[in-house]
Amino acid sequence: MAEAKQRSKKPLTDKITRPVRTRYAPSPTGPQHIGGIRSALFAWLFARRHGGQFILRIEDTDQKRSVPGSLEMILESFDWLQMDIDEGPRAGGSYGPYVQSERLELYQAWANWLVENGYAYKCFASADELAEMRAAGGGYDRRYRHISADRAEALEARGLPFVIRFKMPLTGVTVGDDLIRGAIQVENDKLQDAILLKSDGFPTYHLAHIVDDHFMKISHVTRAVEWLPSFPLHLQIWRALGWDEPQFAHLPVLLNPNGKGKLSKRKQQFADAEGRRVPVLVHEFIDAGYLPAAVMNFLTNIGWSYGDNQEVFSAAQARERFDLRDVNAANSAYPIAKLDWLNSQYIQRSDAGDLCRALQPILKAAGYSVDEELLKRVVPLLRIRLKSLNDVVPMAGFFFANWASFQPPPPDILIQRKMDPPQTAEVLRASLPILEQVPDFKPAAQQAAVAAYAKSSGYKNGQVFGTLRAAVTGQRVSPPTFETMEILGRAESVRRIELALKSLTQESD
Ligand code: GLU
Repeated sequence: MAEAKQRSKKPLTDKITRPVRTRYAPSPTGPQHIGGIRSALFAWLFARRHGGQFILRIEDTDQKRSVPGSLEMILESFDWLQMDIDEGPRAGGSYGPYVQSERLELYQAWANWLVENGYAYKCFASADELAEMRAAGGGYDRRYRHISADRAEALEARGLPFVIRFKMPLTGVTVGDDLIRGAIQVENDKLQDAILLKSDGFPTYHLAHIVDDHFMKISHVTRAVEWLPSFPLHLQIWRALGWDEPQFAHLPVLLNPNGKGKLSKRKQQFADAEGRRVPVLVHEFIDAGYLPAAVMNFLTNIGWSYGDNQEVFSAAQARERFDLRDVNAANSAYPIAKLDWLNSQYIQRSDAGDLCRALQPILKAAGYSVDEELLKRVVPLLRIRLKSLNDVVPMAGFFFANWASFQPPPPDILIQRKMDPPQTAEVLRASLPILEQVPDFKPAAQQAAVAAYAKSSGYKNGQVFGTLRAAVTGQRVSPPTFETMEILGRAESVRRIELALKSLTQESD
C-alpha cells in the first residue's frame, strides 16, 4: 500500500468554491458503529455551518456484506441524535437513487468510458493466474494493461469473465490536498492498477464513490483516514474522468480507550478501568442510559474542540463554529470517562419533567411500578447523582419497591467503616427516639438533631448518617439520607431503623 507523504499541515486551499454538500456513505453492514456516526456528525456539522445539504448514501456494492435492516438502523440512529438528513433513500432528493445497487448502469457506463478513452482496461486474469502472482510475492503484474481492443473483444466473445482495471500512471507523483492533513504527495509507481468494475458488473468502492460524489455534486468528502492510502488513486480517477474533484478531509479514527488499536465493532467487549463494557454501537448508548445530547457533545469533542475551554456545548452551538480545518489529525483514544461526566452534566441540566419521562420507562423495565407523584419528589435528589439514566435503578429503585416487604440490609452494608455490630446497634437505638421526637421531619431538622447526637456520643457524622442511610435504604449508595427519610416519612423511616436494629441484634446473639 502506498505511503502518503505529507508535506505541510496546511491545505493548499480551503476556500469554499461551490455550494456545500456533504455526505455520509455507510455500507449497510448492520448496527451503526459510533466511529461511523462521528464521521457523519462532522459532515453534518460542516453542511449545517455553511447552510448546505447533508446526504445519506448507502454503499451496498459488496452484497455479501449487506445486512438486511441496516438502513432502518442507520435512520433510527440519526433520529435519536436528531441529525437531519436532506437527501437520501427515505428523504428523497434530486440526485437519487441514493442506494448504489440501484445505480449499476451508471458505474458500468463510466467504467466503459474509461476503457474507451484509454484510462482503464479489461483484465481477463483467471483466479489461477492471480494466485500465481500472489505466490510470486508481487501484486497484480499488469499483464493485461496493453491488451488490444480486438483481443479483448475476442476473449469477451468466448465468454471469459473479466474485470475493468484502472491504468495507474507508472511515473510521476500525485499531489493531493487534505483539509485536515495538508498537501499530500505519493509516487505513482507505488500504486496498483486497481479494479474499478468486478466481473459480476458491480463496481468497487474506488469507482462507485467517485461517480456518485460527482453526480451528487458533493463539495466536501469526509471519510475515515483509512482511505488515505487510496486517495492518490482516487485523484487519478477523478482527473481521468475530467471532473472537478471535491475537497477532502480524511478524519482521524477512534481508538480503543487504552489508545491501542482501532475501536472496532468486533471488540465490543472492551471494558473500561472499572470493568464495564464500553458502548460502541448506537443502540448500546441508548441501552446504557446516555442522553442523545450528551452523546452528540461527546462525539463532537473527540478531535475537535469548541474553544473557550468550554466542554459542554450543544449541537446548535457547535454548528456555528465547526470547521473541518480545525479537526486534529491525530487518532484519539476513546475518552469514555468523559462521556459519563458529560452525561451527568446533561442530566443535571435537563428539565425535571423531561427527566421524569426519561426515567419512568427504565424503572418500569426493572420491574418497579412507578407512582408519578413519588417520582416527582425523588427526581430532584437524583439530578446531580446520576451518571447514566440507568443509575436510577440501583440508586433509587428502592423508593418504588413494595415498602411493606422492605428487608433490612445484611451486616456488611449496615455496619460502617471502623464500627462494629454493638456500636452500630447503639447508633440505631439512640437515633430512634431522636427521629421520633424531632418536631419537624424536614431534612435540616433531622440532620441537626442527629448531628448533635453524633457530637455528644463521639461518633463521626459520617458514621451515624451512613448507618441510618443503610438502615432506611438497604444500600450503601443512595440519595441523601435525610431527604430520603423525608420522602419515606417518619413512620416508615423509624420502622426501617427498628428492623435494622432487630436484624443486627439477632445476628450478633
Ligand atoms: N462505504 C465506505 C465506508 O463505509 C464509505 C467511505 C466514504 O465515505 O467515502 O467506508
